[in-house]
Amino acid sequence: MRHAVVVGAGIGGLTAAAALSQRGWAVTVLERAASIEPVGAGLAMAPNALRALDVIGVGDPVRKLAAFQGSGGIRTKSGKWLSRTSAEAAEQRYGDPTVLLHRAEIVGLLAEKVPGIELGTLVESASEDGVVVTSKGELRADLVVAADGIRSRIRQALFPALPAPVYAGVTSWRFIADGTAQPSESWGDGQVFGVMPLARKKIYGYATAPAPPGGASPDELADLTRLFAGWHDPIPALLDRTDPAKVIRTDIHSLETLPPAFHRGKVALLGDAAHAMTPNLGQGACQAIEDAVTLAYTPDLSAYSAARLPRTTPIVKRSRTIARMTSWRNPVVVGARNTMIGLAGRLGTTAALRQMDAVFAWEPPVRP
Ligand SMILES: Cc1cc2nc3c(=O)[nH]c(=O)nc-3n(C[C@H](O)[C@H](O)[C@H](O)COP(=O)(O)OP(=O)(O)OC[C@H]3O[C@@H](n4cnc5c(N)ncnc54)[C@H](O)[C@@H]3O)c2cc1C
Repeated sequence: MRHAVVVGAGIGGLTAAAALSQRGWAVTVLERAASIEPVGAGLAMAPNALRALDVIGVGDPVRKLAAFQGSGGIRTKSGKWLSRTSAEAAEQRYGDPTVLLHRAEIVGLLAEKVPGIELGTLVESASEDGVVVTSKGELRADLVVAADGIRSRIRQALFPALPAPVYAGVTSWRFIADGTAQPSESWGDGQVFGVMPLARKKIYGYATAPAPPGGASPDELADLTRLFAGWHDPIPALLDRTDPAKVIRTDIHSLETLPPAFHRGKVALLGDAAHAMTPNLGQGACQAIEDAVTLAYTPDLSAYSAARLPRTTPIVKRSRTIARMTSWRNPVVVGARNTMIGLAGRLGTTAALRQMDAVFAWEPPVRP
């Protein structure tokens, strides 16, 4: 039986382990953390990711746990709608709308499909010939899946000349609070605030704003409340009822230059290890899931790289472009940006959706 070692039990690693097990591989998952409890709050799963999850039987359980979003869109900080989206139109066009759920819920569903995870196991190195050295000993594998995240030490060892991830100039905050709301993402002059309903009367809130890297505050919620004071309803009220202990702050980094291939010898790079992107398109985990399913169904690693490098490169670039647009602060530039989005928004939801075809209409290598 062929043996795969998967490094990292994030969404990418777990999906790869599930897909490879389904294909008859013996799989060992190595995770340095003591638990797979993820850092994060909500997570958007787009139609392309749901189609990939269907291949491993996790699409429907995700749909069941997720909230159907209804209509939403992009707003200004005063609440004026610039463009609208429609979940019904997305469902008609792609078979599913984008759905939102707790990050821990999708991690739990994926873990159920994985035979076992060796927690508390740090991978120190993995070589092209399939030798993996860990804090607990050495393993030999026919395939090593490097799903070890944005700071991947395996990527660094395989592609030492590749520049490190770059700070996007903004930090992010995420939290979950009680309540219901219409989904929206509001853009100010440098800041963004997203309000996304989850199932069971919960709201996933997220925000980004320019900040020096590595910052932290003793009271992140107080900072958020100050930053977004005067923004439209329900933002201030939502922050008022948020538990300060639940606010997670993460600086946003991305890979400006992707590796020349997503494999070397017997090692495949996957997820953020291969193509860490800013979160503006909500595609980082979705692309990790696509990678994983593609990897399990491609005949060899050259075919995997050939499929995934051209697929993810424009998505990383597009996410970065949106990150730049949302961090503009000059009022004239912000006004012009909002006018442009407003004009495009007048073309209607179908025109807006069509722009997402290249991302959302992706087909997995097999349909269940
Ligand atoms: C604010 C924010 C919001 C986001 N929102 C969305 C969204 O709505 N939708 C979406 O699709 N994406 C979103 N993303 C992106 C998404 O979170 C990531 O792309 C995704 O989690 C990457 O998964 P991964 O499995 O590749 O890496 P990770 O989740 O980083 O997992 C890597 C795992 O490897 C382990 N590991 C690392 N090194 C080693 C080692 N040496 N030995 C053993 N284990 C190791 C780590 O402990 C970790 O468990 C968002 C990101 C941010 C920052």
